Amino acid sequence: MTLASTTAAAATLPRHRLWGVSRYEVAGQPVYFEISWEDRRRDTAWARAMLADHGLDGTSGLIIVSGMPESAWFDPVETAACELGTPFSIGEIWSFEAFRTAMYASRLPITMIFGMDRTVAEGLGDDLASLVARVPAIGGRPDAMPLLTAAGARPFTVTRLGPALAVECPHRSGAHLDGAEWALAERDGELFLSTVGPRAHQASDAALGLRGTVTAGRCECGRTGQRVTITE
Ligand SMILES: [Zn+2]
Repeated sequence: MTLASTTAAAATLPRHRLWGVSRYEVAGQPVYFEISWEDRRRDTAWARAMLADHGLDGTSGLIIVSGMPESAWFDPVETAACELGTPFSIGEIWSFEAFRTAMYASRLPITMIFGMDRTVAEGLGDDLASLVARVPAIGGRPDAMPLLTAAGARPFTVTRLGPALAVECPHRSGAHLDGAEWALAERDGELFLSTVGPRAHQASDAALGLRGTVTAGRCECGRTGQRVTITE
């Protein structure tokens, strides 16, 4: 038995139709959702295009600030980074792990932080300003934006939208949603999400518990489709 023979044998085994199961909330109630292998493949391709637009390649260094329960949203980003040849580290989203993001950013040639949330931004304390000065591109969650901006960053938005992820391109004119998979509606400032792609999880006008504005039309990056700005 060798690694090659074991890998070849494993490839013949039946694979479960799902890559994973995760959870988001609608009106305070948990919604469990399934992710198929095909969903993950398409999400990875989309994430790869977004990261490439931000200039990530084999010369870049990336920190992805995400938690283990957020794999449904951020695992495709990790895989996309691998495909682009970009070395990455995971900076966790807990305050006591903020030092991890600071340590990687100070000791490694990091060119992007993706997904910093308010907890980590606050946990960095006085280190936030020097980190912002050192790292050229910072993707922040909506709740971290005021702190990042005050620290001197010009962050782009990374936000979860129920089961979806939206990411702002370098033009920073609203976070792009993958329009082949999802559609947003805004009513009285509240955001609602529906599935439009062939996904394992079919959401229909799910209330996200988020307020924001939705715009459509061509972005300077060339993408069309919906962009969202979270307002609170
Ligand atoms: Zn754009």
